Amino acid sequence: MRMAFLGLGAIGRPMAGHLARAHTLAVWNRTAARASEFAAAHQARAARTPREAVLGAEVVLTCLPTSAEVEALLDGPEGVLAGLAPGALFLDCTSGDPASAQRIGARLAAAGVAFADCPVSGGTNGAEAAALTVMVGSDAATFERARPVLACFGKRIEHLGPIGAGSAVKAVNNALLAAHILAFGEGFVALAKAGVPVRKALEVINASSGRSFVSEGLVPDRVLTGAYPKTFRLALLDKDVGIAVGFLKSQGVAGPLLSEVSRLMHEARAALGEGGDYLEAIRLQEERAGVAIRGS
Ligand code: NDP
Repeated sequence: MRMAFLGLGAIGRPMAGHLARAHTLAVWNRTAARASEFAAAHQARAARTPREAVLGAEVVLTCLPTSAEVEALLDGPEGVLAGLAPGALFLDCTSGDPASAQRIGARLAAAGVAFADCPVSGGTNGAEAAALTVMVGSDAATFERARPVLACFGKRIEHLGPIGAGSAVKAVNNALLAAHILAFGEGFVALAKAGVPVRKALEVINASSGRSFVSEGLVPDRVLTGAYPKTFRLALLDKDVGIAVGFLKSQGVAGPLLSEVSRLMHEARAALGEGGDYLEAIRLQEERAGVAIRGS
């Protein structure tokens, strides 16, 4: 099929790489050099504008920081709507917000384009391995059209309800991730200060009921080593927790715990800047406590 992918960031790039192997792909990226590099490496076509990328495409995929950037790409003489033909399918893999997804879906429907919000989980490693979990919000017919496309980079692809449902589930997922990160950091900084051998403590907890994806899947390689590789910007996780808190409010749920997680993530974002990695929230906790978790 003829496809277009817009947004070759940390996770978009490997996702687009899988599509390029199976389909005829045009790519667009705000920083044009990244699109050219990608095109050269993957036999894809680098487009100069969003309109040029989507011209003639049967399927368009986006993966941008927030829904606001996706909405902004729709308009203008070089925007997506200027190039997209009726009958096309638009899959937004951004971790966006449910209300924006519904608005984007309505605008595309008016142009005869089917839409699904399809945020992903699994990180850059999962994207490289084509093993992402994809959370889809759409009508049933659109989901059936989207599934084989999403299967190029997704392992578990779930239809969760109408447009917006994928974004809502993703936001709650990432709010839980943020809560686990902050709670892990608080507990382990205290254990390190107390002189408890943290490696052993981690092994014990990972064989007990307090274990989580953070403690099992992330801490051993990234925190205990002190490596803190940059894979997912904390600014994006902060955005996700904010979406979750907004979603709770929209349902009349107070959410005192996730509101506090959101406040702490804002604080960490202010301290680390826009480029900090999400696990560096733990590095900040180490700094504040004057103790390194890995060192004990
Ligand atoms: P990055 O910050 O690495 O990349 C962002 C992409 O969006 C880049 O292509 C960037 O272009 C582009 N972009 C930024 N601002 C604009 C703009 N105003 N107009 C057009 N394009 C813009 O983000 P990720 O790839 O990490 O994340 C993308 C989405 O996927 C986010 O919603 C994130 O929450 C989600 N996600 C990320 C995961 C990860 O592990 N990284 C995991 C799961 C979900 P440029 O190259 O010019 O900067």
